[in-house]
Amino acid sequence: MNENENQNEIKHGGITVETEHIFPIIKKWLYSEKEIFLREIVSNACDAVTKLKRLSSLGEVSGIDEDAFRVDVTLDEDEGTLTVTDNGIGMSEDELTRYICQIALSGALDFINKYEGSDGGEASGIIGHFGLGFYSSFMVSDEVEIVTKSYTDAKAVKWTCGDDGEYEISDPEPDETPECGTSVIMHISEDESEFLSAYKIRSILEKYCSFMPTPIYFTSVKERREAEEHKKEHEHDHDHDDGCECDHDDEPKPINDVHPLWQKNPSECTEEEYKEFYRRISGDYREPLFWIHIAADYPLNFKGILYFPRITNEYESLEGQVKLYYNQVFVADNIKEVIPEYLLMLRGVLDCPELPLNVSRSYLQNNTYVAKISQHIVKKVADKLTGMFSGERENYEKLWDDIKTFVEYGCIRDRKFYDRLKDAILLPLTDGGHKTPDEYLEAAKEKHEGKIYYANDKTAQAQYVAAYNAEGIEVALLDTVIDTQFIPTVENDKKCKFFRVDADVADALKSDDGKIESSADVEALFRRVSGNDKLTVTFSRLKDKSLPAVVTEGEESRRMQDMMKLYGMGGVGDAGDVALTVNVDSELIKNITADPSAEASEKIARHIWHLCMLTRGSIKPEELREFLAESYDILGYVK
Ligand code: ADP
Repeated sequence: MNENENQNEIKHGGITVETEHIFPIIKKWLYSEKEIFLREIVSNACDAVTKLKRLSSLGEVSGIDEDAFRVDVTLDEDEGTLTVTDNGIGMSEDELTRYICQIALSGALDFINKYEGSDGGEASGIIGHFGLGFYSSFMVSDEVEIVTKSYTDAKAVKWTCGDDGEYEISDPEPDETPECGTSVIMHISEDESEFLSAYKIRSILEKYCSFMPTPIYFTSVKERREAEEHKKEHEHDHDHDDGCECDHDDEPKPINDVHPLWQKNPSECTEEEYKEFYRRISGDYREPLFWIHIAADYPLNFKGILYFPRITNEYESLEGQVKLYYNQVFVADNIKEVIPEYLLMLRGVLDCPELPLNVSRSYLQNNTYVAKISQHIVKKVADKLTGMFSGERENYEKLWDDIKTFVEYGCIRDRKFYDRLKDAILLPLTDGGHKTPDEYLEAAKEKHEGKIYYANDKTAQAQYVAAYNAEGIEVALLDTVIDTQFIPTVENDKKCKFFRVDADVADALKSDDGKIESSADVEALFRRVSGNDKLTVTFSRLKDKSLPAVVTEGEESRRMQDMMKLYGMGGVGDAGDVALTVNVDSELIKNITADPSAEASEKIARHIWHLCMLTRGSIKPEELREFLAESYDILGYVK
């Protein structure tokens, strides 16, 4: 309290009876997000500057130096205050009374009626709606002062208010009176002392104010004092090389970028600027794959830059971060309501001035405007991908592995997304190339019309893949969990069928010269050695004569098994729809067929079966033991 106080004309007031209800609620309503008070106060300060700038550009005020506009956030650890000062429009006493003392009461009363007794959460959607933003300062302060001087010739005023809602208006001291603008001095309450940490305040400013439109400078009185002491000490030893590497004449820099890249015209932004901006907002030092700069006009009226991050580690969280801004003021992270869930791995910013600054999740969920933004984003993402597909195919193929999971997931989740993208979907091939399903099917017309062959394990299925490739049949590599679920989406649309390489013996692998003799004895022999008396055994001529037999499992029954496994329902040992195709042109099979009951035939048949199981990666432990014993036995014959 200063001594001269009594000389001022002091006016007392109470923010009317309702504030008795409001203050306790303000104190607790945003319990989980107290830090937003600083956003509210700093954004009010920036608004005040913007307003004065506008008046100046309209010629309503003159002599304003636009370069001098600034907001200062000063933390005085010793005094326990946090002060936000601007040189904006300021307030006259009349305005102060109107804007600050009379909290928009009708709205506030509704608010109380609706939310009293609730514990925050939804209530956070209210702040700002009713002009209560300034009052959020009471969440962390037990006294708040405003010293303000209007840009007009109205005299400066000082307003002091305790956390009971009782305020007084007085004349400020000459030395605390700004030329024009406002200082909000928050006396941080004892239980909120964390807001007296420079680190904390810096990180809040970084989070919420990084792109606000007026330069914001942060000073910690304690740090400044320490820096000055340090400087003095070293100036003293100026002539000695004391090893101090500090730059003692560092010009203070604003903590924010007042012209964030998304506000610029896309045609004026350089690649380097996009990459630099990505590093700044994501903290990811790998380069993004590519990005989309959206500048949607009326009626959507929002801007943003969305980046596709490079995801190199499968186990890395796929959750990206798209930050929502309201006229350069940070509002929220990861807004699932605005970005469809399958695009949440994107990183970037969206600035939506049509949304209120303080939005609640439920507000976003039920808002048709938000739904339209979301659709617009989906369209832009799809346009970008199809544009790259047709305009820079080679590059697109290179990126495919990185984006495929999210594209496929998006297609499964959202039919509209699939419809937009379906002609830009690629199948990676085992030989390293890529084809769209249409291109693949076109090439397959003669040999295997309507069938797409694929492998899901390049190593385990290498032999099958080699057999197909030898016949000029391309094999797609679909080796992720999501592929399994994506296949039916393409099948339904493209009227084709996917077969895993071990699901079928393609006609192209068979030669059709001559009749095929089947043998009931050989059939019985293979059933016996496989331990499966229901095994389907068919006889065929395979072009590759070195291959005695191939095991296949019907695509449908295997998919069913895979699905059951995925949901943890797989019955152990389920044989599925396993079939053995015996190659009558193989020398080994010829030997067996010549005398199926010979002891050697049984040995050979068992070994062939085990090799087939090994090839499919489905050999059982006891079979493996048998197989090894047999193999060593065979080695004994090698001379
Ligand atoms: P809102 O910003 O949502 O209108 P606030 O409670 O934050 O609600 O502020 C109420 C009003 O007080 C503002 O609309 C503005 O007219 C005035 N005000 C607040 N801070 C300042 C400031 N730093 N300079 C000038 N006027 C201010």
